[in-house]
Amino acid sequence: MTVNAYGAHAGDQPLEPLQIIRREPGAHDVQIDIAFCGVCHSDLHQVRAEWEGTLFPCVPGHEIVGRVSAIGAHVNGFKAGDLVGVGCIVDSCKRCDDCLEGLENYCDGMVGTYNFPTPDAPGWTQGGYSQRIVVHERYVLRIRHPEAQLAAVAPLLCAGITTYSPLRHWNAGPGKKVGVVGIGGLGHMGIKLAHALGAQVVAFTTSDAKREAARQLGADDVVVSRNAEEMAAHAKSFDLILNTVAAPHDLDAFLVLLKRDGALTLVGAPASPHPSPNVFNLIMKRRSVAGSMIGGIAETQEMLDFCAERGIVADIELIRADEINDAYARMLEGDVKYRFVIDNATLAD
Ligand code: NAP
Ligand code: ZN
Repeated sequence: MTVNAYGAHAGDQPLEPLQIIRREPGAHDVQIDIAFCGVCHSDLHQVRAEWEGTLFPCVPGHEIVGRVSAIGAHVNGFKAGDLVGVGCIVDSCKRCDDCLEGLENYCDGMVGTYNFPTPDAPGWTQGGYSQRIVVHERYVLRIRHPEAQLAAVAPLLCAGITTYSPLRHWNAGPGKKVGVVGIGGLGHMGIKLAHALGAQVVAFTTSDAKREAARQLGADDVVVSRNAEEMAAHAKSFDLILNTVAAPHDLDAFLVLLKRDGALTLVGAPASPHPSPNVFNLIMKRRSVAGSMIGGIAETQEMLDFCAERGIVADIELIRADEINDAYARMLEGDVKYRFVIDNATLAD
């Protein structure tokens, strides 16, 4: 079937309306009419070919929410009308240790929601800036939030799980001091989730104007990272610092804020490398620099349920599909509070 979408034909071209083909649902497939799709900075990196290997035409979008409109003959977990989500993963090998442990995000055969090889036309996956998607049921998430919150749930499918997973892995909770660097789509969810998990939360920002807003998101303290005195006040005190920044920068400024055995965990994925950290800042206090990528399907469901129980959603700005190029420009200026979400109804003819 042919559906309307928004995508780009080359890395230096704006996104524009185009049409893509979705497969008919197979026995284990769920067909979803997409209601909303969040706009992740990864979409921008990928569609502008800032990372290697973008396949064009490229339709980004991996923060997908909507309603089931058809199911395959062997689908048991979902029925037409269900509110569901799809994040960054639409397939994996299902057999390796990572898949068997529910960590499909680390499977070597993971198929991302866009720009990954697939037998479907045109040969690579196409994402959620589109009217409809067809996904194997294993990778479909159940949404238990009220429908009125659906648009603000969309960013949980990437920004939510990408911050929840490392917060859980590094045991953010009562008695732990957690920093979140960069108050964008990921960072604002990191602040909300670390606060909800019971940690003491400090937000780091380059934008003085975000100071008050960060407190409202749940930060106990806010540091403007260009201010050396404010930074020094937190020396050697953090158990975990989650770094969401989308551009290369000095990591040592954050490493020295970790206490013994603390971890600086990078989730931001800038197109060019950070300057190497000073080894002495690692060995002196047995500190580590680590990374983390999205999260597994079971953990994503756990995060969605955790958020539904506590009424946690993203702070969003709803846009029409034809506003996406302006939205990218504003995202690069840090001018979004804190996630753009596309109203996919605006893709209709
Ligand atoms: P975003 O909404 O643009 O937020 C990034 C934030 O980083 C900005 O709001 C800004 O916060 C800060 N920042 C940006 N440029 C900076 C600079 N030059 N120096 C210092 N701070 C800067 O982006 P996002 O959607 O949250 O994504 C963030 C990064 O995570 C992207 O690289 C994305 O590709 C990556 N990502 C990784 C995963 C994963 O699995 N690891 C998943 C999703 C996204 P302040 O104004 O507060 O300083
Ligand atoms: Zn993302």
